[in-house]
Amino acid sequence: AKDRGKNNYQFYTAGLHGLSSRKMEMETGLRKALELNQFELYYQPQIELSTGYIIGIESLIRWNHPERGIISPCEFIPLAEETGLIVPIGNWVLKEACKQHRSWLSQGYWPMVMSVNISVRQFQDDDFVSSVKRILNETDMDPGYLELEITESIMQNFERSNLIIKDLNRLGVKIALDDFGTGYSSLSNLKHLPIDTIKIDKSFLDDMEDGSMVKTILDMGLNMEFHVIAEGIEQKEQVDFLLVHGCKVGQGYLFSEPISVDGMEGMLNKKVLV
Ligand code: C2E
Ligand code: CA
Ligand code: CA
Ligand code: CA
Repeated sequence: AKDRGKNNYQFYTAGLHGLSSRKMEMETGLRKALELNQFELYYQPQIELSTGYIIGIESLIRWNHPERGIISPCEFIPLAEETGLIVPIGNWVLKEACKQHRSWLSQGYWPMVMSVNISVRQFQDDDFVSSVKRILNETDMDPGYLELEITESIMQNFERSNLIIKDLNRLGVKIALDDFGTGYSSLSNLKHLPIDTIKIDKSFLDDMEDGSMVKTILDMGLNMEFHVIAEGIEQKEQVDFLLVHGCKVGQGYLFSEPISVDGMEGMLNKKVLV
């Protein structure tokens, strides 16, 4: 029994060490990535479904790793959140997106909304609102074109989140609730939040056999006078269904995957096939 205990102990420490050193390596990598400018934003257009015009753009981070190539945010955002690195990374994203928007406007492209994903951890950081303000100033971004995408998990801290959103409103920035329907926000709470847009999560569109969930969420959003964006559109039939039921804006692979700056410039000021 003594031996077994010893073995277990060794196994346990080795396992623990293995895990934490891998995480530490990744954390060091993330810090370096910031320093060495290895992050890049990709952009996915948001389409006015009835016309095919691009009216908004969502920015999505990628990590251009020197050895591993392009790494998806799903692989590093959770650790960035856990370690707090999401704050400087998120500030980088926000500034980059605002700079890009400014540049597109000065190149004469039609104005469109720029959407930026914000983690709860970042949103609840004490300096968040002042960082947004500073970045808007530094980049000369018109706040009316900036939309921050937050998730329903901010509801866990409803009072505080409400105050932050109000501060952001005062700056003139818009707020979208991302992945809508997957969280636990009660309708009554939602009504009291000064948000502009809800984004219907892709999972509801995946089950179009029975579009009743999409229709329910859509009706609710429209009744509450939110802008509604459908996410993850892959089929023409989904566009038809959405249009019939009053959803005006959508994004998804049917129109375009997230693409680099150059790719996006090829699409701007053009109609996207609907
Ligand atoms: P999200 O904000 O819900 O973004 C939508 C994700 O769905 C993106 O994945 C996008 O590429 C993908 N997508 C869009 N249309 C379709 C479609 O038609 N079909 C399918 N199958 N997928 C589609 P991505 O870029 O890998 O991002 C994953 C998640 O990582 C994002 O989910 C967001 O939560 C997070 N993320 C990405 N960029 C940032 C960022 O700059 N900051 C923060 N905090 N989180 C980010
Ligand atoms: Ca998003
Ligand atoms: Ca989403
Ligand atoms: Ca998501």
